[in-house]
Amino acid sequence: MTRFEDTSALVAADDRKDFDFAARGFIATLADPVVRRADGRPAYDVSAYRFVEGTPAPETANPSLWRQAQILTQHGLFKVADRIWQVRGFDVSTVSFIDAGAGWIVVDPLTTCEVAKAALDLIGEHVAQKPVLAVIYSHSHVDHYGGVGGVTTAADAAAGKVRIIAPEGFLEHAVSENIIVGPAMLRRARFQFGHTLKCCAEGEITSGLGPRPSAGTLSLIAPTDLVTQTGQEITVGDVTMVFQLTPGTEAPSEMNFYLPQFRAVFMAENANLTMHNLLPARGALVRDAKAWADYLTESIRLFAGQSDVMFAAHGIPRFGQAEITAFLTSHRNAYKFLHDQAVRLMNTGLTAPEIAEVLALPQVLSKQWFNRGYYGTMSHNSKAIYQRYLGWYDANPANLNPLPPEPAAKKYVAAMGGAEAVRALAKAAIGDGDLRWAATLLNHAVFADEGDTTARELLADVYTELGYEAEAGTWRNIYLTGAQELRHGPVALPAAGFSPDVLAATTTPMLLDLAAVRVNPDKAAARDFTLNIVLTDRGETVLITVGDGVLVHEHGVSDPAAGATVRLTRADFLMTLIAKFPVQGRVESGDIVIAGDAGLYDALVDMIEAPTPNFPIVTP
Ligand SMILES: [Zn+2]
Repeated sequence: MTRFEDTSALVAADDRKDFDFAARGFIATLADPVVRRADGRPAYDVSAYRFVEGTPAPETANPSLWRQAQILTQHGLFKVADRIWQVRGFDVSTVSFIDAGAGWIVVDPLTTCEVAKAALDLIGEHVAQKPVLAVIYSHSHVDHYGGVGGVTTAADAAAGKVRIIAPEGFLEHAVSENIIVGPAMLRRARFQFGHTLKCCAEGEITSGLGPRPSAGTLSLIAPTDLVTQTGQEITVGDVTMVFQLTPGTEAPSEMNFYLPQFRAVFMAENANLTMHNLLPARGALVRDAKAWADYLTESIRLFAGQSDVMFAAHGIPRFGQAEITAFLTSHRNAYKFLHDQAVRLMNTGLTAPEIAEVLALPQVLSKQWFNRGYYGTMSHNSKAIYQRYLGWYDANPANLNPLPPEPAAKKYVAAMGGAEAVRALAKAAIGDGDLRWAATLLNHAVFADEGDTTARELLADVYTELGYEAEAGTWRNIYLTGAQELRHGPVALPAAGFSPDVLAATTTPMLLDLAAVRVNPDKAAARDFTLNIVLTDRGETVLITVGDGVLVHEHGVSDPAAGATVRLTRADFLMTLIAKFPVQGRVESGDIVIAGDAGLYDALVDMIEAPTPNFPIVTP
């Protein structure tokens, strides 16, 4: 019945080493805590987490997560080593600055331009004003490249004034990861990060990985230099970097690097102040715990013995060669244990929830703060390993084709004697402290009848308590967002638009894959035609075939017998097909020229439908 470990004794015995590392080298922070967008709305408020400073955990927070938040939310400019600085607490990620003599190497320029610029301004004010010579993207996630427009420009990159260095495969993965299932991932990400929760002792207190992401302007500048192998060296100014490629770890395209002149190693997002996610709750392709552990083994061999400082894309630096070796070794062992033991249990016949229930790190690993589950957890990561190797099906025929949640809930509630009986059982479970079972019972009651306000209130209370007790920032955010939505419904956030830079970097076949997964199947089943699309500004041709409920696209192909040929720019193609701007006006202005059956393009546009924003999650 234990839900979460009592961490207060652990926190009381803390040696405060991480607090020392987090504070070391502090120079200054923003005088005005709010970084604003051009339209005046805040992009970030570095003072948002002031409530955690210097106070013990309240009843509403797990003491271990509270401690983690106290470390992660320290903000400002920090000197990490000779010629290396970081700005932390301006975003979920950190940005690092390496003095290359004639200018800066900027590593991972945060999520949005406004905070990246604020970080560059801060180092300009307190250390030196220098031009940016290079930007490094450690990997293909947006919190590591989205702010690049705040520290340099696409024109400077094109002119060769600044180099943009990234791991092989960066651009493809940067644009593809969130495209096809973007709407579903975005909706689910709100739960993971607690986007709609207040920053407060009863609300969001970080995701466990870092403070909340900034909310400014996204950008993307394509790399000019790719790292394609481990051991590759790149020199910028008077600084040489030696890279280690780590594809398929935390991101499909990722890399660490070593600075021999400074005996410093940058571990990207491969070594953090938390056990990371193998499968984020927002949803993603499942990651590979074995590759992660194996690449850390290689990092230890390559770098640990010759590094006096380690810094990373989230969290805090670590200082001292012995400390770095011990950290990387213990952290590697945590992923190795997680992987190997989850697989061992699979091979004894345990299913994913059974493995999650029993798998725990040995104390020698779990007592290390950086191995604890603040962002990923042993529970959901072990399920991810099961998913990676064996998939969703547990091999029990009862689970091959069960009823979906809503009809199953109605039958469960009826079988238990009706809603009132279910609520009574739930109250008894709450009284026994069995909140997990209470949540299951009440979830059935809500899915059987979403108008059962008593059950909704009770379930919201249960989720709130589970959130307050959770050690993982992600789990806390998930439970508290669930409670919020049961009480008030989903906050109607607008569907996020695409960043123009990301859109420009997205290939036409990827965009047509996006269109294809928005096809209304009945409309596409009722038609049977082909269309040539000619993107006049890019010299691209695409043959589109519609029928049998699907849209098939072939790049570089055209068919003289197609029902029509449509000539237009890619911008007009996107505006009409995806953004649903009316076709007629663009045809009248001559921007879209159609030869053949003009009605076919209208039919195509008509069958591409927008996804449902703000869809229900905690209710049917
Ligand atoms: Zn990140």
